[in-house]
Amino acid sequence: MPEDQQIRPGTGCGPHPPSVCIRAFLHPCFRFLCGVQQFKHRSIAADLMSRLVMKFGGTSVANIERIRNVARHVKREVDAGHEVAVVVSAMSGKTNELVGWATEASPMHDAREYDTVVASGEQVTSGLLAITLQALGIQARSWQGWQIPIRTSDAHGSARIEDIDGTEIIKRFKERKEVAVISGFQGIGPTGRITTLGRGGSDTSAVAIAAAVQADRCDIYTDVDGVYTTDPRVVPKAQRLDKVAFEEMLELASQGAKVLQVRSVELGMVHNVRVFVRSSFDKPEDIDPHSNQPPGTLICSEEEIVEQQVVTGIAFSKDEAQISVRHVQDKPGIAAAIFGPLAEASINVDMIVQNVSEDGAYTDLTFTVPAADHARARETITKAKDAIGYARLDSATDVAKVSVIGIGMRSHAGVAAQAFKALAQRNINIRAITTSEIKFSLLIDAAYTELAVRTLHTLYGLDKA
Ligand code: ADP
Ligand code: ASP
Ligand code: MG
Repeated sequence: MPEDQQIRPGTGCGPHPPSVCIRAFLHPCFRFLCGVQQFKHRSIAADLMSRLVMKFGGTSVANIERIRNVARHVKREVDAGHEVAVVVSAMSGKTNELVGWATEASPMHDAREYDTVVASGEQVTSGLLAITLQALGIQARSWQGWQIPIRTSDAHGSARIEDIDGTEIIKRFKERKEVAVISGFQGIGPTGRITTLGRGGSDTSAVAIAAAVQADRCDIYTDVDGVYTTDPRVVPKAQRLDKVAFEEMLELASQGAKVLQVRSVELGMVHNVRVFVRSSFDKPEDIDPHSNQPPGTLICSEEEIVEQQVVTGIAFSKDEAQISVRHVQDKPGIAAAIFGPLAEASINVDMIVQNVSEDGAYTDLTFTVPAADHARARETITKAKDAIGYARLDSATDVAKVSVIGIGMRSHAGVAAQAFKALAQRNINIRAITTSEIKFSLLIDAAYTELAVRTLHTLYGLDKA
């Protein structure tokens, strides 16, 4: 049969055994899970034959020489007898360039066409890596999201993966020892159009594919050799963590540590995929694929972590905007009048601070939204002014959120109080605070971000000796 006929559209969960199919795993209730089995817990040291997903980010495929380096990493695993699916990002800077072109063509562009444009970066790298692997004598074939297919919701620009049919990929592992080179970041929506998964979405593609093909491990190769206590580019004293619990990684990622996309961590947690973050810049030939301790960070369940620190890491984000709605009536219904329209406009509200008014009559309400939604949030509140009945709307974008994360906080009191004191000693003003079981976040002036992160990193004993 000619090969193009073998790339057939998937038939979803129905006819396939649950082990090769994953459906609607990002549904908030995970109601539609089609019985994806729990992962076999093999050690990092690979068994004689494992099934691996290897994901390479933008810097790792930035030019042909680096793609060759990636190919050698893949060859090492193939030579060791493993079945391999590779997920690639666009060459570094490419997606930004494509987004820039779409915006230049028209700032108010059609989201479906945006996806058509920005998904193209990954198509280039998947083809180039397949060519490079073939040149090394490895059987390899590129796959775009629509060819597998990776079915997604129709939320263009931030689509959610709903269903992946791994049958054909697995068949080719078995029958041809073929490496699947898959374009990350993209899928196919309900109406058959190309979708993209949001910035950093190749991580999510990789973990989703690992779940769909029941890989033993999902290796995320990037430009750092693991997950650190904070961004090592900002705090050189940051230390690499050997293991991080899914819950903590979820908080680190959602609070700004861009080393993994948040949804990839959610997926890893739900499907118990062993996610291993490691460097693509290590020399491929120096690594023993059967070694016990390749350098990197394993994202795993809490039970696997023996020594638990109170604070595991610090994340920060400058992509925040603060909005204050001044002089609103202190009565039932006001919060609903403010946050209802924001929710309808799909604007994510994060920190919310409201004072209990002294006179019981008026108060101020402050909250944060992603900086990219700042203008839209202002517009939404202004439109609802009559229903809300406020006196003034203030906002600022020169703010940053610094978050301290650790599952050890569940059983330790006073962790945040130490931070307040240390920041006060540095004269750093805190605008807003939120806390959860394993995290607290502080909103501060953006100018103090690095100082605050470094101060807290030292305070909680995270500095490398
Ligand atoms: P890729 O292109 O491989 O997907 P990203 O740029 O998306 O890579 O993510 C890797 C970057 O994440 C690192 O270069 C680092 O600056 C940043 N980063 C932020 N926080 C952390 C952290 N806690 N640990 C490791 N890297 C982090
Ligand atoms: N190329 C996409 C981006 O830059 C996806 C990714 O790299 O994960 O956001
Ligand atoms: Mg990334």
